[in-house]
Amino acid sequence: MKTAFLAIILLLFSVSVQAQSLHIADSKVEQGGILVIQIFPQWQGPMVCISALGKQYVPNKNGYTFVGVGVDIKPNKYPVLRVECGRGVQLDRGPEYVEVLKKEFQKTRTAGRDRSNRPRKGAERNAIDRAFSETNRLVYDLTDGISYVDSLGSRDLSDPFGLIYRNNKKLGHFGVDIRVPIGTSVMSTNRGKVVLVAKNFSKEGNMIIINHGLGIFSVYMHLSKIDVNEGDLVERGQIIGLSGETGARVREPHLHFNIKINGTYVDPLNFIDIVGQYLTR
Ligand SMILES: [Zn+2]
Repeated sequence: MKTAFLAIILLLFSVSVQAQSLHIADSKVEQGGILVIQIFPQWQGPMVCISALGKQYVPNKNGYTFVGVGVDIKPNKYPVLRVECGRGVQLDRGPEYVEVLKKEFQKTRTAGRDRSNRPRKGAERNAIDRAFSETNRLVYDLTDGISYVDSLGSRDLSDPFGLIYRNNKKLGHFGVDIRVPIGTSVMSTNRGKVVLVAKNFSKEGNMIIINHGLGIFSVYMHLSKIDVNEGDLVERGQIIGLSGETGARVREPHLHFNIKINGTYVDPLNFIDIVGQYLTR
């Protein structure tokens, strides 16, 4: 009896897996871009994941997955397929393919004196690593599928997402620098949980890291004031602090804002615009 019951469950599972299909919104994507993949129909519960660019992603409640394409991913064709979450057992007979195209990043600026040799404080590094750690990768969606918003009212960029050249060496600038007067309200880009409140870190100054679930994190640096605590649940648009110019190497007041998906930084403003087309406003 028990066996028969199990067999039926397994049959239902495999039938629904067979019936499910995968759709890639745009099969060509630039380095640093966002890949939008949908499986449908989607059911509740993270059983089916998307495997893309060597990582597994849990789709949101409407079946959408947003994959960050690293700036250093080699231009090429890569397979995308449905897998069993965790174990990674392939559920599609053959993969779909996406093509990663080379992007000429804006040379944002020539940075000043190279101070990268300066030893990084271990405690700070550890706190940041812990905030982004595997155990913080929530398989559920704290945003419940609502769209992301700008954390400031303006997009006056002093440095875009891209690359900085220093002594002919390419260095990543994995967020955007938004020029803003000190003391301007900074909003959380979406619902989430505060996983790090950093006070006076050497580079980042006062910084907040928020976990939105499904591997998506947002980062806010150089703040003059922080209004949240670690562990707080914040709403989309909630004021979490005030902008500033804290941290070494900060030349003018600005907000450095990052979005990281499953360990990959993406252009955060591009992210807000692209995923907004697939999320509830
Ligand atoms: Zn920056």
